[in-house]
Amino acid sequence: MLTKGVLVVTRVLGGNKFINLSYFRKMSQCAATAKRALVFLAPGAEEMEFVVAADVLRRGGINVIIAGLPDGSLVKCSRDVNIQPDISVAEAKSKAMAASKEVGELLKEQEKAGRVIAAICAAPTALKAHGVAVGKNVTSYPAMKPEMEEGGKYNYQECNVVVDGNIITSRGPGTAFDFALKIVDKIVGKEKASEVAKAMLLSY
Ligand SMILES: [Zn+2]
Repeated sequence: MLTKGVLVVTRVLGGNKFINLSYFRKMSQCAATAKRALVFLAPGAEEMEFVVAADVLRRGGINVIIAGLPDGSLVKCSRDVNIQPDISVAEAKSKAMAASKEVGELLKEQEKAGRVIAAICAAPTALKAHGVAVGKNVTSYPAMKPEMEEGGKYNYQECNVVVDGNIITSRGPGTAFDFALKIVDKIVGKEKASEVAKAMLLSY
């Protein structure tokens, strides 16, 4: 069962942050100017990866919505830090991203629409479980390499961050900043990513 990792699904749309998922999906079909990302948070996620991703994206001016699995209640992370999601992945029956029908549907919609999908650590296995990003260059936490390579669906690379079209994957806590900055770069632009990095005493 997959419980670790952070999945970021991004869309370009506007509106209020505190909305339910069906409204979020409906809004994604509207033309709007604001940048928005849906970040999935499942029990056992690594808080460093999750918080860095959400924080850096918000610094980058992206409207982040945190979607909890299996509902909107407090999510206990891998080192016992509890995080309160903004909304629930309401219809999800499973705690695991890889087994969540709702996560799968959102990922497939996202891919079909040509929008950005980002996954770090064990979360890339959720892409595989839902048949998303097939044929792409990807990476993951090293322990998940055999699982990602099995079946020959992906071209696995041992890089901190791998970008292939609209698919961004990364490896673990130590690569979380690179991962998040790459998402800001992809969605907002390199200039913004550099500006955000500089303010955090990082270089990009
Ligand atoms: Zn991790």
